[in-house]
Amino acid sequence: MRLLVATGNEGKVREIRREIERAELAGVEMILPRQIGGGPSVNEDQPDFVGNAVKKARAFALDTGLLTLAEDSGLCVDALGGAPGVFSARYAGEPCDDLANNRKLLAALRDVPPVRRTARFVCAAALAHPRATLITMSDQLEGMIALAPRGTGGFGYDPLFFVPELGRTTAELSPEEKARISHRGKALRRLLQWLKERQSQFEGS
Ligand code: IMP
Repeated sequence: MRLLVATGNEGKVREIRREIERAELAGVEMILPRQIGGGPSVNEDQPDFVGNAVKKARAFALDTGLLTLAEDSGLCVDALGGAPGVFSARYAGEPCDDLANNRKLLAALRDVPPVRRTARFVCAAALAHPRATLITMSDQLEGMIALAPRGTGGFGYDPLFFVPELGRTTAELSPEEKARISHRGKALRRLLQWLKERQSQFEGS
């Protein structure tokens, strides 16, 4: 069974590949858009993460005929009214630049004291095949925005996302530690478990 993972974000690809391997889906081959000529370009214009994840999964499934997994994710900061939210990737403009996004976030929170720097990472994952959206799963990780970046792991806003229970940012966690608690790890494990229980229905796709 071939499973197309509709993203070009290398940080996401590493984390999604790990979850697919761990899910032990028998005979599943993970395909990336770059292996099949790129796939359609999708305007991520929906107001929420689920809407964008479904839109991406459906567009890629329709275009390629493949069972497709897509996810939309981002950072929601309470003191900024939930921003950058669905605009997380392009918070500092396009082309997307993690360093510029982190700088803009620190500047936006310059006058916000530590207790009010609460935030969460949100992930919506969607699975679709050419005729239908099959399922969506969402999850989140609560944390605080640090006063300065720390750590070199992960991607995106990880150096600024402090997890109080662990006393570290998500960029200071090993891939295993981040996967165990992360918005993406939790949402994907539930979605892949759902697929595993029904895998025989999709064989040959
Ligand atoms: P999109 O889902 O492709 O629109 O992009 C999501 C954006 O949210 C990424 O480019 C990151 O900036 C941010 N993001 C989502 N998940 C994570 C994460 O696990 N760590 C750090 N940043 C994340």
